[in-house]
Amino acid sequence: SKGEAGLLWFDGDLVPADGLQAPVTTHALHYGSGVFEGIRSYATRDGAAGGGSAVFRLPEHLDRMRKGAELLGLDFDAAGARGAIVQTLRANGHRDAYIRPLAWYGTGSMGLDVAPLTQHFMVATMAQPVHLSGARTRLTVSPWRRNPATSLPPLKLSGGYVNSILAKREAKARGFDEALFVDGDGLVVECTGANVFMVRNGQVTAVEHRDALPGITRDTLIALSGAESRPVTHHELLDADEVFLCGTAAETAPVSALDRREYGDNPVTRDLSALYARVVRGEEPGRSSWLTAV
Ligand code: PMP
Repeated sequence: SKGEAGLLWFDGDLVPADGLQAPVTTHALHYGSGVFEGIRSYATRDGAAGGGSAVFRLPEHLDRMRKGAELLGLDFDAAGARGAIVQTLRANGHRDAYIRPLAWYGTGSMGLDVAPLTQHFMVATMAQPVHLSGARTRLTVSPWRRNPATSLPPLKLSGGYVNSILAKREAKARGFDEALFVDGDGLVVECTGANVFMVRNGQVTAVEHRDALPGITRDTLIALSGAESRPVTHHELLDADEVFLCGTAAETAPVSALDRREYGDNPVTRDLSALYARVVRGEEPGRSSWLTAV
């Protein structure tokens, strides 16, 4: 039976999510020695009655996960992961869903040498109603610096997210929704779980920074808008007409304020958000190669 919490994929099998436990000596729990992805599927209207669904840019997500796994020395089979994701979505009957694969080190040692450790792979899927672009994000510059790429490469390594948690906690404690990482030279890096764009005089610009995660939504929006990609200063962001964040979970999130600077209407962001929403649902025929049917 599926149980209350549905099924998840764990080490080669679909199992009831509510029965699953990891040992408290799990290496990844102590040291963050894991790598994950955040992926989405969307209901599409094509096909049989009721319609189907498709995972958005699945090969790109799995390729980024492979890079992180290689860095940590975790075995990773992209074709196997793809199969596990599709099977988990089908088994749970999820169409609009958030998909969370994780590869991690288990037990065998408390040391930092990962060689003796067991390895695990799981996929969880969560029903995720389509994001209603209601409340706009209130952003503040973080006093924390982003993990520099020379210390921790910008991949989805579990332990790296402690940096995001500190920045998010600090921003929320001051009454903001989200933190903006700026580097020591005043260049914008990214947010805790999203990349940054700005619009000025109709020109769309994607913030580029070596310490920022190479976002797949960012890449998508550059392709859709013809945005330029370049380093951007904090000052330029304050001077922009529109600012928005983007990521798989966030989709496109307009920014209403950056500290004391408030932004007005955001027509360019709105149009690009609407286009993105059509693309992920397979309503833009020219972009169907980004979709993996479930
Ligand atoms: N930056 C960080 C730190 C993130 O965690 C995410 C979410 N994966 C992003 C940017 C956006 O990346 P993507 O568009 O690939 O989801």
